[in-house]
Amino acid sequence: MLRVGLTGGIGSGKSTVSALLGEHGAVVIDYDILAREVVEPGSPVIAAIAARFGADMIASDGSLDRTALGALVFAEPSALLALNAITHPAIGELATARERVADPGAIVVHDNPLLVEMGLAAHCDVVIVVDVPEAVQVNRLMVSRGMSEDDARARIATQASRQERTGAADLLIDNTGPLDELSPIVGGIWDELVSRSAEAGG
Ligand code: ADP
Repeated sequence: MLRVGLTGGIGSGKSTVSALLGEHGAVVIDYDILAREVVEPGSPVIAAIAARFGADMIASDGSLDRTALGALVFAEPSALLALNAITHPAIGELATARERVADPGAIVVHDNPLLVEMGLAAHCDVVIVVDVPEAVQVNRLMVSRGMSEDDARARIATQASRQERTGAADLLIDNTGPLDELSPIVGGIWDELVSRSAEAGG
């Protein structure tokens, strides 16, 4: 198994790259999905969130009130750290369980916006970073997710810096260009992963 870490700042195009790698045959573990799974109603994680941040973080149907929690943690760095301390270990356990059921010869992509922040880069055989300048991130978040410029910059500020992230990269994807240039770049990256996987003995 080749364990690949894929990361990128919010709006960099990481999810787009992840989907392309999936089309090539990678087994993709999407940490955004895992992050939702760990807070399902009745889960130990949602109970811990209510204990730490208050019962009003939980909606009447038992689901997480993401808007309330988001407003709290993105305004207060120490609250975000506390939330991460609750959720990250549970997310890590789920990811390990997913990896365990993958084919031994698989190329497994850990698609994780916080790969560097969670200290998981060192656990990967190959780290791919999708990189764009901050101005491009902001612009894409405004266009694709309807964020205000201030919101986009605030979200970016909660993540590792561009330099910290690219410093962890074995393979860097520059996604500053137009979307139609991305597919051939990812094709080349896939060929590289296949050859590294073969070198590592499949
Ligand atoms: P991330 O997962 O890093 O937050 P996404 O892959 O969701 O980013 O991309 C954010 C938005 O930017 C999406 O609407 C996507 O279609 C668009 N996008 C991705 N790459 C490019 C590109 N090279 N040029 C223009 N738009 C792009």
